[in-house]
Amino acid sequence: MSRRRRIYEGKAKILYEGPEPGTLVQFFKDDATAFNKKKHEIVEGKGVLNNRISEFIFTHMNRIGIPTHFLRRLNMREQLIREVEIIPLEVVIRNIAAGSLAERLGINEGEVLPRSIIEFYYKNDELNDPMVSEEHITAFGWATPQDIDDMMSLAIRVNDFLSGLFLGVGIQLVDFKIEMGRLYEGEMMRIVVADEISPDSCRLWDIQTQEKMDKDRFRRDMGGMLEAYREVARRLGIMNENDPKRPSGPVLVKSD
Ligand code: UDP
Repeated sequence: MSRRRRIYEGKAKILYEGPEPGTLVQFFKDDATAFNKKKHEIVEGKGVLNNRISEFIFTHMNRIGIPTHFLRRLNMREQLIREVEIIPLEVVIRNIAAGSLAERLGINEGEVLPRSIIEFYYKNDELNDPMVSEEHITAFGWATPQDIDDMMSLAIRVNDFLSGLFLGVGIQLVDFKIEMGRLYEGEMMRIVVADEISPDSCRLWDIQTQEKMDKDRFRRDMGGMLEAYREVARRLGIMNENDPKRPSGPVLVKSD
């Protein structure tokens, strides 16, 4: 691993040079951070879970024609991705009021929004990722009006897909953040979903109990973060081989 060139290290992931031109390897760390790194802990096993959950989501998005940077998972902590030019915006899609929206506009957390709301934040840790409008985005050249249209349609498709996916396993998709990048194929440029989609970047509430199954458990010192992430993976049916609840003793085999 040390021989590979490290391209970028973020709060929860590292990007390495990939095996072929135009590819990168995305490594998932166990670091949990919040409030722009003011709170930082190592949560052992989080990277493995996020790698699997994100793989599951991106694989399905690829299958239904939502373009992404994802190629395949390589091992417990790494996935092979296409190299894209990351657009310096965090795209947040909200279905239910929570977090900064609830606080800023004085809306009760849990209130269903009249429609899904898309917000853009400028990716800049020093500035605490400030919210920006289309005016700022186009004036400063972070994206063109056409890019913004493409990003919004992509965001809505991802939201529809994810809402249904989670609803099917008894989880409400409250809000989430995605990042997008420009993928160049010859003369063509497409905007694709990049980065990761995991309980680190989504708010996920159990439909029955409203219990939080996401990074808010860490942000709000509630404990049980890893257990919640494991439960999300289990419900999605992707933790079977590591499920500790599986009997480890002899298994009855039907013979006839
Ligand atoms: N989010 C994220 N990274 C960020 C900021 C927000 O993944 O740097 C996600 C967060 O997990 C939530 C959604 O985006 O699902 C909306 O977050 P919000 O604006 O409410 O900010 P927060 O309350 O997390 O500060």
